[in-house]
Amino acid sequence: MYLVSRRNVGALRARLNTHFTFENTKTVLFIYVVLIQSLKASRHLRARGLTGTAREFWRWISHHVIMLVLRLPAARKKVQIEMDKAKMGIEDKLVPKGADVTRHLSLPPEGKSAEWILQEMVKMDEEMGNPGWKNGKLSGAVYHGGDELQKIIVSAFERYSVSNPLHPDVFPAIRKMDAEIVAMCLRLYNNPNGAGTTTSGGTESIVMAVKAYRDWARAVKGITEPEMIVPSSGHAAFDKGAAYMGIKVHTIPIDPETRKVDIKHVKRAINGNTILLVGSTVNFPDGNQDDIVALGALAASYNIGLHVDCCLGSFIVPYLEKAGLANGEGGEYALSPFDFRVRGVTSISCDTHKYGFAPKGSSVIMYKDAALRTYQYYVNPDWPGGVYASPSLSGSRPGALIAGTWAAMQYLGSDGYLESCRSIVTCARTIANTIKSSIPELYIIGSPPASVVAFGSRDPSVNVLEVGDAMGKRGWHLNGISGPPAVHIACTRLTVPLVDTFIADLKDSVEDAKTAPGGKGNMVQVYGLGNSSVVGPTMVGRLATVFLDTMYKA
Ligand SMILES: *Cc1c(COP(=O)(O)O)cnc(C)c1O
Repeated sequence: MYLVSRRNVGALRARLNTHFTFENTKTVLFIYVVLIQSLKASRHLRARGLTGTAREFWRWISHHVIMLVLRLPAARKKVQIEMDKAKMGIEDKLVPKGADVTRHLSLPPEGKSAEWILQEMVKMDEEMGNPGWKNGKLSGAVYHGGDELQKIIVSAFERYSVSNPLHPDVFPAIRKMDAEIVAMCLRLYNNPNGAGTTTSGGTESIVMAVKAYRDWARAVKGITEPEMIVPSSGHAAFDKGAAYMGIKVHTIPIDPETRKVDIKHVKRAINGNTILLVGSTVNFPDGNQDDIVALGALAASYNIGLHVDCCLGSFIVPYLEKAGLANGEGGEYALSPFDFRVRGVTSISCDTHKYGFAPKGSSVIMYKDAALRTYQYYVNPDWPGGVYASPSLSGSRPGALIAGTWAAMQYLGSDGYLESCRSIVTCARTIANTIKSSIPELYIIGSPPASVVAFGSRDPSVNVLEVGDAMGKRGWHLNGISGPPAVHIACTRLTVPLVDTFIADLKDSVEDAKTAPGGKGNMVQVYGLGNSSVVGPTMVGRLATVFLDTMYKA
């Protein structure tokens, strides 16, 4: 029998040492690092494409050059002056001025009466022109606005105002309603055996999904440098989630005609680190839908997640088929499959606080099964304050919002949502069809199947952002979007009775934009600046920060 003696081992080690010198180890390490970096670079190049990478590089360079230039004293001063001017402009719009404005900057020394509090609110509303939404000239924002629904939500708030689902033993009815909201949504999206949670809004639903896939991929596939693939039309909440969770994002261009994400490009961007694909039904900018069936096939074949963002589609897209609107009109506006019946779909976000008509602060994130949902949870058994376990970002949550959401869903019922879907989508299609048939300067972006319509300009003498600003002068709060510049409206129940007014105002606004462009409106300035030059995005970013600062100016 041969025994490995201690002496033998020593000799072996000495021999190995002569082979693996320090220098050799360094070389091996160097080759390893070069290989890994080349692999990363080639994956990046494949995902972004040559032009995409070049464009990205150009943007990176210009951004850094701008930042350098802005450090020069002269430039810094000039930018500061412009920023201060912009800041004053934003403040003028948002913050009331004058000696007669009462400011509540510190606590009143003694508590106030209920009468005083209500009176003070009435005063504030009068000073600041609230409620401005009642005329209905909005895009999204207020989705129902009916008095009776409002009363029902308020009575639910009243009954459950102190409740908190963090304490299900104290508030058992709230726990039950929370679970039932999710169950009702799962049935709406054809996955009765799936799982989900409620959240505070679409953004939280999306951020939670991103976290769930990150933790799933780490646990199941050992992925430590996760990447996700998002259409350029996807909601900013995906980038936000990725930024929070430390995930690399590949933003994939969309087809300029159909506005659907380029599936071939998505496929090219998939690699061993990919955890998640994203598609929308429907997207925010122009209300179009990605090809969920094709995305699902990719997700299934690579065993990765596919999240379908139905935050905006919410309670509209599940009813299109029943409303007889899913097939569109003459080849336009058709809806393709998008829910859990599509192979490969692993999660869906649905905003109850949009077309579910729930009070603000309510959304649902659904998963294909309960196993995937567990990766969304945060559990800490070692906390000295007790075993801490929470389903989503918040700890304590407002039970009143859950009760309000549950009440809104009971109040409307399937019939109510079906009727809403029919009238809202008919309104959106009337707007789209009228623009096509009788406003030749404008065109509809893509072929939107649901409640959102975006229009751009095909007439060089009409700047569509000018049209948006002219609509603003007529009392409309619409959204300006970029890539290409366009204006969108998300139709709601408030838009339905105003459809003729909208079209008349739009025709007038196109004439205004053609004959007397102001060039000073919000949309023209902000969106125009963003697209004007390489400096644009950096400056708009700074302006946006100023805007956020102003939001908290008392
Ligand atoms: C509104 C919306 C979201 C989420 O927005 P919240 O304001 O956080 O509710 C996500 N995706 C789309 C397409 C949306 O329209």
